[in-house]
Amino acid sequence: MIFRPDIEHLIRPKLKEMNAYSPIEPTDVLSKRTDVPEDELVKLDGNENPYGCSPRVASALANYVYYHIYPDPGQQELRKALGAYTGLGVEHIVAGSGSDELIDLVLRLCIQPGDEVINCPPTFGMYPFSTEICDGKVINIARKEAFAIDVAAIKKALKEQTRVIFIASPNNPTGNITPESQVMELLDSGAIVVIDEAYSEFSGVTLAPLVPDCSNLIVLRTFSKWAGLAGLRIGYGVFPANIASYLMKIKQPYNVNAAAQVAALESLKDIDYLRGTVELLIEERARLIDRLGEFDWLKTYPSQANFVLCSVLKGEARQVYRKLQREGIFIRYFDTSVLRDCLRISVGKPEHTDRLITALRKIGDSEVK
Ligand code: PMP
Repeated sequence: MIFRPDIEHLIRPKLKEMNAYSPIEPTDVLSKRTDVPEDELVKLDGNENPYGCSPRVASALANYVYYHIYPDPGQQELRKALGAYTGLGVEHIVAGSGSDELIDLVLRLCIQPGDEVINCPPTFGMYPFSTEICDGKVINIARKEAFAIDVAAIKKALKEQTRVIFIASPNNPTGNITPESQVMELLDSGAIVVIDEAYSEFSGVTLAPLVPDCSNLIVLRTFSKWAGLAGLRIGYGVFPANIASYLMKIKQPYNVNAAAQVAALESLKDIDYLRGTVELLIEERARLIDRLGEFDWLKTYPSQANFVLCSVLKGEARQVYRKLQREGIFIRYFDTSVLRDCLRISVGKPEHTDRLITALRKIGDSEVK
């Protein structure tokens, strides 16, 4: 027997209308689309670590013998190791399937329909995306010159229904950090302030040590960028202890899979190696910015992350993006009301920078950018 009742009316109407998140695509898909072999692609679109993860991760995963057993729902070993890494007690730490999951969990903890979340565009798209899924209302407070957050405007927008303020620092896609003094002003509002430090290892700046003394400060971190584990989905947050225990209560019990827990633990045992790759990327960031300086049709912004934002001053960012794609080079472009004609280029290895610069010269020489 086949049943085909109409189920459309059972779907939440708001979710039917909302825009999907536009994620980056994996290399095999990019390779098929462009006919460039996978090993010749230059992937500078995901802010991933081109040096990969610690070599110790592969052997730890190969030697792990408990894949048939559910992972520890209390994440005890991992939280202890993260406590040592951040210098904070385990009661402040919760791990998630990427920091994306923690963004969603914080919102599910705080948002009832109609509650407000402050977002500071241009910024990471998961904040409005997850807010909408939770039936919250996104209040956009655009960034000012040099992409600084507009503290006065945020304060003015605060209402009884304001629950959470999201600030990525360094911000994606602009690369700038928000100074501690501004975060302090926002904490004063009483709303939960989430400082998303996905790129903190590249800036060397963190507000995590402040968390035990601030009942409304959350700091999110990830292994996706500095530790080269984007594919295994492992992030964590530093939370006031009571928020951490609520999150431990509402999260899916086995949210961080065994492989991700093993990989994160092993990475934390190989920090010197990982810091070495972070150093290489910081050096390459400076070289990339320097090389991009040769193009008078690009304006490059300073960055404290592992990517660089550029404005396309002549022509369209989308055209540059398309032309680079034809050369097997993948970056992100933005063309929205808050970010007109911009490119975001992840920092790669020196040979990736070289290929990019050669391709940009070719584009610069052609008539239409
Ligand atoms: N926050 C920011 C600012 C990001 O740019 C990203 C990744 N693009 C994330 C969080 C999500 O990271 P994860 O892979 O840990 O989910």
